[in-house]
Amino acid sequence: MRSWSTRPSKQKGAMADPAAQVSSSRWRDLDKLLLRPGNLVGQNFEPGPELRDDLQEFAKVLVVGAGGLGCELLKDLALSGFRNLEVIDMDRIEVSNLNRQFLFRLQDVGKPKAEVAAKRVMERVCGVNIVPHFCRIEDKDLGFYNDFNIIALGLDSIEARSYINTVACSFLDAFACFDLEVSAIAAVISMGHHGGQYRSIEYDSEDNPCEDTIKPMVDGGTEGFKGHARVILPGITPCFECTIWLFPPQVKFPLCTLAETPRTAAHCIEYAHLIKWDEVHSGKAFDPDDPEHMQWVYAEAVKRAELFGILGVTYSLTQGVVKNIIPAIASTNAIISAACALETLKIATGCSKTLSNYLTYNGLEGLHTKVTEFVRDKDCLVCSPGYLLELDTSVTLQEFIALLEGHPKLLLLKASVQHRGKNLYMQAPPVLEEMTRSNLNLPLFDLVGKVPKDVIHVNGMTYKNDKKTSCGRKLRIVFKGIDGVSDMDTAGGA
Ligand SMILES: [Zn+2]
Repeated sequence: MRSWSTRPSKQKGAMADPAAQVSSSRWRDLDKLLLRPGNLVGQNFEPGPELRDDLQEFAKVLVVGAGGLGCELLKDLALSGFRNLEVIDMDRIEVSNLNRQFLFRLQDVGKPKAEVAAKRVMERVCGVNIVPHFCRIEDKDLGFYNDFNIIALGLDSIEARSYINTVACSFLDAFACFDLEVSAIAAVISMGHHGGQYRSIEYDSEDNPCEDTIKPMVDGGTEGFKGHARVILPGITPCFECTIWLFPPQVKFPLCTLAETPRTAAHCIEYAHLIKWDEVHSGKAFDPDDPEHMQWVYAEAVKRAELFGILGVTYSLTQGVVKNIIPAIASTNAIISAACALETLKIATGCSKTLSNYLTYNGLEGLHTKVTEFVRDKDCLVCSPGYLLELDTSVTLQEFIALLEGHPKLLLLKASVQHRGKNLYMQAPPVLEEMTRSNLNLPLFDLVGKVPKDVIHVNGMTYKNDKKTSCGRKLRIVFKGIDGVSDMDTAGGA
């Protein structure tokens, strides 16, 4: 997929960039990918020198995270011919980062990671421009994210990935499912995308998303000697939420094991940390950053281990277990980032088919890599088009909720209804029920701002194998007889 297919037409014979001429030898290897035809290339691949020029001029990539993966990614992307990069990270550099976050030096400790990383790569790679953003990912509005052709993730948290995933998938349906400040959404809409109109929900009659609403993501992650790289094309390949089960729950030991039958060094450490500390220091909170506290837990863990004949308790393991530190290894970061950078280049240029769609790497004992093609969850609350419902503009919220109960495909009882992060009606808790009750008699059409179609999220109960379970659904509602709704829009999905 060429992700900047809407690029402005370029004037032939325009002045060549002097930086490009100076560093043309740098692109020798890139040219082997971009200048020659091949059999394994992507759909719209057009080899030639213009492709490299276009890549450098128009492709715009956001790197999320400037830590172990982010540093590598920025460098790799810059060396792969990308010139318009931005990086976002809210952290400052710490001494403990320096062994693997190789863009940082001792004198950088305390400075924002994004700013230093951007500066270092620009110093080393001629012609690349990197804009740093030292802030939280939530601080940026949708317009910011929509500006990029591809988003590359170098993150270590599930929450942050989930957030960016929701942002990227929200472009599929006109920001409708996204819980952002209304002002932020208004700002995006007023930016004049699609002629200043409110964007319509963009699916074709087969429920496939339209190509220019797809915001590709490339996600990398590492944990010690293991890692993954994946390509997410919202609406086409599974999104992060479709496969959230891939992330195992964090390891927690049952208290009875800790108290009675410890078998590992970690059990002894957690016993000292979770049980013994409270017994001895009644009421005093344990501070993982206080070396004396850590030393105390370590000493107690050693005693415990000796009692049960368990080996392996060390001070650094104590720190690792108590602070839940996942060891980060530079070589794993380098391998995963390289895979991510290559996928980014493939998406941007079509020089090869992209990874389909999830690569795992394990370097713990020997080396094992595997690519698995995961499938989309067709009812995913984030990336699915949503179940299509056609409604009269006169339908009240109460009637809408009743309709969900009786609908043979939905059978959703006691539904709470949300629209763009706002509660239209909540069944519980009682305070919210009371606050939203007055909406029940209003037409849904009015409640969603009189738009011809939009996305609504509902939560309620349903029967699965004769058992009552809670269930969330994404619905795409279309109002009958409103301008802007063509036959095609209503033909599919139902
Ligand atoms: Zn999904």
